[in-house]
Parts: sequence; C-alpha cells; structure tokens
Amino acid sequence: MQELSSLTLVLTDKCNFSCPYCPQHRGKKTLKIEAIKDFLDYLKPRLAEEVWLGFYGGEPLLAWPLVEKTVEHLQKSRKTKFHFTLTSNGSLLKKEQIVFFKENKFELVLSYDGLAQAKRDPGSVVAVEKALADLKKNYPEGYTINSVFTPATVSMLSASIEILMGQGHRNLQYSLDLSVPWQDFDLMVLQRELNRLAGRCLEVQNKTGRMTLENFKDSGKKGIFACFAGRDRLALLPDNTVWGCYLFYDLLGHRPDHPDYKKYCFGKMPAFKKDKARNDAVASNYRDLRQDYFFTETKELCSLCDKLENCSVCPVVAALATSELGLIPTWTCRLKALQTRFKAQWTAIH
Ligand code: SF4
Ligand code: SF4
Repeated sequence: MQELSSLTLVLTDKCNFSCPYCPQHRGKKTLKIEAIKDFLDYLKPRLAEEVWLGFYGGEPLLAWPLVEKTVEHLQKSRKTKFHFTLTSNGSLLKKEQIVFFKENKFELVLSYDGLAQAKRDPGSVVAVEKALADLKKNYPEGYTINSVFTPATVSMLSASIEILMGQGHRNLQYSLDLSVPWQDFDLMVLQRELNRLAGRCLEVQNKTGRMTLENFKDSGKKGIFACFAGRDRLALLPDNTVWGCYLFYDLLGHRPDHPDYKKYCFGKMPAFKKDKARNDAVASNYRDLRQDYFFTETKELCSLCDKLENCSVCPVVAALATSELGLIPTWTCRLKALQTRFKAQWTAIH
C-alpha cells in the first residue's frame, strides 16, 4: 500500500435529517475516541507528510466532542501536517464551533440545496440559512456550499446558485444525484440550467475576478481515472470497520453476506491491525476499480469510449443504481456527455 494522504472518520451514523437522495443507512452507532486514536496511531508510520482528515457522518456535529478530542490528539503529532475538513448539514452549527473551525483552519462543506432545500427537509430551511449567514460573517473563506439536485429539482439549479452568489458566499458547487434515472426531459432541463448559470457566473467573474462555482473551474486533470479508495485513503466507520472509502460502507456495510463485503472491507480495527496479508489482498482488490475497466449496461467497455480521458465515475455511486461495482448506468454516460460538451464550450469562451 502507498502512503496515506486522506483519512475519513465517519463519527456517527445518526442524522437529524432524512434527505431523499442520501444513500446512508441511519443507525445509532457512534465511534469512541479510543477507537479513533487507535486508528490514527496505528496508521502513523504510513502517513504522508500532509494528510487530509475528514469528519463525516451521519451528521458529525451530533458527535461534536469527538471532533474536539481528535484535533487535540493530533496536535501532539509533529511529523504530519493535518488539514481538517468537515461535511455537515449545518442545522446544528453553533457560533463557538465556527470559532474552533477558524482556529484550526477547517475546510467546511455545508450541504444546502437552495430553492430545493424545502423539498429536501422543509423544517431545516431557517436553521441552515442562519448557519450560512453566521459562516459568511465569521469565517467567509472557510466553507463551500454543496447543493444537490435531482431530476425532480434540477429546474431550480441556476436560480438557487444565483441566489447564493448574490448573497456573497465565496465557494459554491453543485452535485447531481446519479443514483436515480435521468430521462431525456431532465437532461434538457439540465442543459438549459447550465447555460443560464454560465452567463451569470461570467458576469460575476468579470466583476470580482474570481470564479465562485467549483464546477466551472478547470481542474486541469486528464488521463484515466482510478478510484482512490484503499490506495492513498482509508475510512473508519461507526461500527469500527475499516474501508478504502466511506462510500463502500453505504453500498456494502449492511450486507455482510454479500461477496463484495469480504473483498472490500478490511475488517474491524483489531483484525485490521493483525492481518497484514489480508490487508494487502483487500488493497489489491481496490486497485481494479479503474475507469478503463468499467462497462455500461449495454456491455460497452469504457476503455473503448472516446470520452474515457475526460470521464471519472465513482464506482460506488454507479453501483448504488446498478448493484454491481464497475457497471455504469446508461443515464450516467449521457450526463457525462452533456457535461463534457458543456465544459468544452465553457473553456472555449474563456
Ligand atoms: S471514486 Fe468514489 S469510492 Fe472511490 S475514492 Fe472517490 S468517492 Fe470514494
Ligand atoms: S461516458 Fe460512459 S462509457 Fe464513456 S468513459 Fe464515461 S462512463 Fe464509460
């Protein structure tokens, strides 16, 4: 296994929301600080000089003391520089937590769906908007708002992002729910929404000199995509199991009899610490999750597709729809084609 540069702690599987597109299984498990310390201390010799440590849930703010205690524990580490991230629905965010995030230079991802938030959870709108206002005032450089759209809400995409830009939030991104089918009509609406949004983003960029929307920034990445899970990253889950990426737990964590469970789960911490040969075998299974090995529902190999070098599909997100790792749903290819076309047009006018 190579050096680790990204670790995720899924602090709890409890959440105070139940978003329609969330693939996670709600539960009542929460990690213990001893388990977190055990995980981090055991991995110490394998850590890169800089490591991104992500706090995730469920809703991680429901396990707030674990965030403080973990950061305190890592402050004793001299060899590795840790960059902290935390992904939250924002509804429980307190001012003193914002102070803590700022002091420890956290990068926060707040999920808020703009005009679609009321469809996601009508009771959440007031609390999350208050959290966003507090963040904008007290830690404006420290957070990104991620807005998720589904075929049912995609018609609200451009207006939602425009409102957030108008409110002065610095970093925005949108995501699409790929676990449900996108029909011709939905793709047409998405195309229209992206065209509208591009015009507005250009205006703001001309005025401020910076691009607010992450999706329209050129990542400069090209080449054949390979899932990073189990290679340079690992995740510790609330049931104390270790996986290559937390998303595998959403797909397989509750199906221990599925053959892929054994293939991708490193086991609970004690076993993970003991069985090096098994760890190597599991890590090598993750190495096969490359875009050029994936295939579509019509049995076309990605390696033969002309979009291969511009395409990166998370195999777990695809498998949430197709139930098979490596099998890509038809609508994902069509969405990728639309987004690639759009990106090419957008780059051409820059
Ligand atoms: S591609 Fe998906 S499963 Fe792989 S590391 Fe990224 S998010 Fe995790
Ligand atoms: S567009 Fe579809 S077939 Fe082509 S590389 Fe991407 S996922 Fe594979």
